[in-house]
Amino acid sequence: MPRCTGPNRFLTGVLMVLMSLTAAGSAAGQGISLDERLRLLAQAYPSTVAEIDGKEVVFKSGARLEVDDGQEKSHAEKLVGADIEDMLSQVYPIGRCYDGAGPARNVDPGRIRNETFFRQVYGNSRRAVEKNLVVLPWFKSKLRVTRKHGVDAALSRVAKDLAELPAKYRRFFETTSGGHNWRTIAGTKRLSVHSFGAAVDLNIKFADYWRWAGGKPGNVPRYRNKIPQAMVEVFERHGFIWGGKWYHFDTMHFEFRPELIAIARLSEARGCQH
Ligand SMILES: [Zn+2]
Repeated sequence: MPRCTGPNRFLTGVLMVLMSLTAAGSAAGQGISLDERLRLLAQAYPSTVAEIDGKEVVFKSGARLEVDDGQEKSHAEKLVGADIEDMLSQVYPIGRCYDGAGPARNVDPGRIRNETFFRQVYGNSRRAVEKNLVVLPWFKSKLRVTRKHGVDAALSRVAKDLAELPAKYRRFFETTSGGHNWRTIAGTKRLSVHSFGAAVDLNIKFADYWRWAGGKPGNVPRYRNKIPQAMVEVFERHGFIWGGKWYHFDTMHFEFRPELIAIARLSEARGCQH
């Protein structure tokens, strides 16, 4: 029998075009408008953000921050100089929106951050942040985190739910590698979210990190993870994103990003249209 390669080849071509369109749409963050994302951002930090006024975020302090600087940026440029629009450009995947495979190249939802926004939300200096820190009991250790925007209360709820998980998971989270720590992200001049007391690193013994795996910025050789999905779901339920869903993965890292979880839930409700 002759092999019918023509139509197959045609269909493969169509499929590849469709797949590339889907990937491009996902990367560009289509499906949920910028206005909707901004509304969810304002709702996530109600005691700090007064409103989104046209093209600016207006803070209760009176400060204003441009939403879109109009610059087209590469992924690397977004990481260094993100505006608010860049910060919300990638949809963090939760629930049905997560296919379990390692993230595609430069899919880093939550890793693109505007530092000025975080300084407005949590404190513009080490001293200003420290005024709002509390010490939270955390299984076999303690965590220093901010009480701003209910980060401490959210983490208490996380701890309560983690305690309900089967005992085999305990070794992953009973000890931590730190909450608040005023420091820059390794290899950069940008402040880590740990600086604001809004991120937690769990047991370093089970951590996988893109730099340790031989990765270079923009080129990570292979994804690795030991953190169980059940734990990730607990953190996400209470407003935290996980660094294990980044191309530049950091699997012990969880940070409070209620705006990204809200956008993710809207995406999931709409059938995961990123
Ligand atoms: Zn961390």
